[in-house]
Amino acid sequence: MPDLLEPPDHLSFSQCTTLLNELPYGCAQKWAFERIAGIPWAPSTAMAVGSAFDDAVTRLFHPRTVRGGDASVPLDVEGALRELEVGVNAVAMNWPEAATERVTDVLGPTLVEYARLHESTPALATQQDLTWWVDGEIPVVGRLDRLDRGRVITDLKTTGEAPKLDKDTGECLDRRLDGWRLQLSFYALALEAEVLEAGEEFLWPVSGAMDVVTIRAGQVKPKIDIIPVELTADLAEQAKEIVRRAWRVSRSGIYPANPGDPCGRCPYTGLCREARAVETVPFSELWSRLS
Ligand code: SF4
Repeated sequence: MPDLLEPPDHLSFSQCTTLLNELPYGCAQKWAFERIAGIPWAPSTAMAVGSAFDDAVTRLFHPRTVRGGDASVPLDVEGALRELEVGVNAVAMNWPEAATERVTDVLGPTLVEYARLHESTPALATQQDLTWWVDGEIPVVGRLDRLDRGRVITDLKTTGEAPKLDKDTGECLDRRLDGWRLQLSFYALALEAEVLEAGEEFLWPVSGAMDVVTIRAGQVKPKIDIIPVELTADLAEQAKEIVRRAWRVSRSGIYPANPGDPCGRCPYTGLCREARAVETVPFSELWSRLS
């Protein structure tokens, strides 16, 4: 039996939401497969394609971020398209079975449209690594996709499922909205910590946005939705409470399975007996059963 690992000394948004079975798609056992048993998992093709798009977007904004968010500096569309091509080629090498050619047909025009929508966005930073603390003792790490001048926080999501919006008002009715708001609140708390550390004033609410990019093979037109999200002090408190609860679970040694919806996106279904039967098992015992 291999040694089990100590729980990590920090949490991230995705760790928190995986650790808490009461949250959508939460499954503490899934977290423990990765973080306590140390069983690695490979990203899906969709994740790899999303990551290629993220890198291309970073390239797109680069001339602006190095100039302090100066919106008059042109975006690097050509460089971003080259970056995208490199990323997609890497996907094709690793997943030769993936329909990458059809996906590429969608990605290029989508990136060009993304650049058009952000022609005047004053991007100050992209892919920014952040650390903040809850109660001075729980470190939380994350990577912010984009910070604009004026303290607007944006997360970029690539998805195969377009967000549900009210067709008259454009209001977001998507079931994923609560999770997006929570994730953005994590970043807002990190920003608050940095601003306070610099001795400046920080006021809630904070402006956030989700750039939701829908990518599906065979898609005819680019589909990008920019969804504004107001980040309030109440949301920030909820985010902190989630970190506290997740921290307690991560150190409990008991990682209950949550078979059902979470299994659909779990890389451990082949290892997991609990996907077929609800049961709470100390993880050390679970590993013995799997061996
Ligand atoms: S297969 Fe389902 S129950 Fe098992 S670890 Fe994954 S998400 Fe949890």
